[in-house]
Amino acid sequence: MSLIARALRNRNIFLPKAIIDRYLKSSQRHHTGESRSPEIFHSNQPAAGIYIHIPFCVRKCPYCDFYSIAGIACREAFVHALTQEMLLAPRAYADCPDILNADTLYLGGGTPSVLSEKDTAIIMDAAFGSFTLLPGAEITIEVNPGTIDERKLKGYRDLGFNRINIGAQSFDQANLKFLGRIHSRKDTVAALEWARQAGFDNIGLDLIYAIPGQTRKSWLRDLAQAVEFEPDHLPATCSPMNLARPWNRIGPQSAFSRYRKV
Ligand code: SF4
Repeated sequence: MSLIARALRNRNIFLPKAIIDRYLKSSQRHHTGESRSPEIFHSNQPAAGIYIHIPFCVRKCPYCDFYSIAGIACREAFVHALTQEMLLAPRAYADCPDILNADTLYLGGGTPSVLSEKDTAIIMDAAFGSFTLLPGAEITIEVNPGTIDERKLKGYRDLGFNRINIGAQSFDQANLKFLGRIHSRKDTVAALEWARQAGFDNIGLDLIYAIPGQTRKSWLRDLAQAVEFEPDHLPATCSPMNLARPWNRIGPQSAFSRYRKV
């Protein structure tokens, strides 16, 4: 019995049999690697992209305005509500089931990698049971290098993730400290190596540029180091300097406000 089926039974949750059957059938196909709906893949019908937001982080980075909270105290309630909502989707869209066909699934946040492997497995089981991931679908998890290890990354591959997005932001320790990141350069390097060893051949590496105090030389150094790891996707975000953003509420003596005057 899969983790989600067991979790539902343990919590005395009773869903319509059709939904459970669909989930079990789909989940079984996923775990055996069997293609879900090849006929849909060739039908040229538009496919959805599924984004699942995990709103937890180890701690809040001062520049961040994504919705997330520090700590995972509400993790259990959240995972429960999320899986319930997903498992109800097939019934909600019973009249137009094609809407559940997806060619991408992205587990983002927040920091999805703060969740345990068991919780991640429950979420993925519910997703695979509720939506039809088309053959070749890109299935991504976003990770913070300070929250993973080799075993966790291998586990993600087993759960069906075929793409990983690593939030490096910078390879410069001073920049990481300034940004309030929980990870070090060493953590990022280890994450990249473990990801390759785990079998990820589609890796995204996030960087931030125009960090207050960052010189052109240090940005180019960051870029050169990132390229050395040959990521498949290298998104670079300009550091948020908008006065309305949370990192400007830290206080007049903060490093942010000092640099803002430059
Ligand atoms: S880890 Fe990412 S989502 Fe979480 S607070 Fe920092 S920038 Fe925001």
